Amino acid sequence: MKNFQFFLPTRVLFGEGEIEKLGKEAKKLGKKALLVTGRTSARKTGLLDQVMKILEAERCKISLFDQVEPNPSLKLVEEGGKVVKKEKCEVVIGMGGGSSMDAAKAIALLGTNPPPVERYLGERKVINPPLPLILIPTTSGTGSEVTPYTILTLTEAKPPEKRSIRDPKLFPQLSILDPELTLSLPPSLTRDTGLDAFSHAVEGFLSLRSTPLSDSLALEVVRICKKWLPVALREPKNKESRAWLLYGACLGGMVIAHTGSILVHGMGYRLTLEYGISHGRANAFFLPGISRLCLKEREVKLSLLAQALGEEIKGLAPQEAAKKGVEAMENFFREVGFIPSLRELKVKKKVWKAYAKEALGMKKRIEVTPHSPTQKELEEIYRKIFEG
Ligand code: ZN
Repeated sequence: MKNFQFFLPTRVLFGEGEIEKLGKEAKKLGKKALLVTGRTSARKTGLLDQVMKILEAERCKISLFDQVEPNPSLKLVEEGGKVVKKEKCEVVIGMGGGSSMDAAKAIALLGTNPPPVERYLGERKVINPPLPLILIPTTSGTGSEVTPYTILTLTEAKPPEKRSIRDPKLFPQLSILDPELTLSLPPSLTRDTGLDAFSHAVEGFLSLRSTPLSDSLALEVVRICKKWLPVALREPKNKESRAWLLYGACLGGMVIAHTGSILVHGMGYRLTLEYGISHGRANAFFLPGISRLCLKEREVKLSLLAQALGEEIKGLAPQEAAKKGVEAMENFFREVGFIPSLRELKVKKKVWKAYAKEALGMKKRIEVTPHSPTQKELEEIYRKIFEG
């Protein structure tokens, strides 16, 4: 068996009603909190009011930074960094989807480290431990509540790009996972964030950095998504399905906290930045294609994936069983209403060929992807998406 390390210093509170503990927990970490969230959804659903009341009941002082937009930029977190210092906040609370939680991580970092945030992009560049951080996911996808990463967008770069800060210092102290907070997610967001969690699991499972422990978690995420995502799409108020999906997304976060993601996420970013395709959906375009390239290198794992997706593989030759894993994944995507074509965007061949070239340059991601792809192999994946 492979040697490995498992490190997860975040305390996780999970279950219905756990959000009520936020006030007491925040108070333990500091006298004044900066609450970081998006512009509209927490306000619309009444969650913002609810959380403010919970904090006020414990006499927590609060400043609000509710300016987070999808794919948070460096500029945005710099602004948040100024607020956290000016308001002398001692703890940061990030509430929302991946964007709000990632922004909160970077803002907590800027609470104790000198700007600009740019200097911390990359691996282990954070100098001082960030301000204590509490994360509260309201979607079931990113798993950011248990990862040491924040993904930020360099809007000024040409073309714009997504970069990350990766540092064990970014693990939050506490994450509160209350499935009730995800009950009002509309079907499209439920599906797209679910696909993100699924992608974290499968990428982590295929990754050359996978470990026996991350593999167990990854297969469990696959089983959870397969069983519960269709239920949550059919019955959005089904509490059991919401609880399992939130749990699954968190396990997916634990997976990538140890393995990182592979080429799939790297390729997906371009679709998000150029065409506004949601992060989870963007990954789903590439996951089957990249998995298919790994059929030889990951024969056993892809057949285990087939089983986790409910397929019978007894009696099949190993390559056939592995192929079934990829097909089962495509069938699952179809089942939840994902359409694997972007033909309607009319993207020119020259353009998607350039995307293939860009992907080929993602050295760090290719290093952990079990199959080293050629330009031709990647072009074939893009061709299917844009012309198929
Ligand atoms: Zn993701």
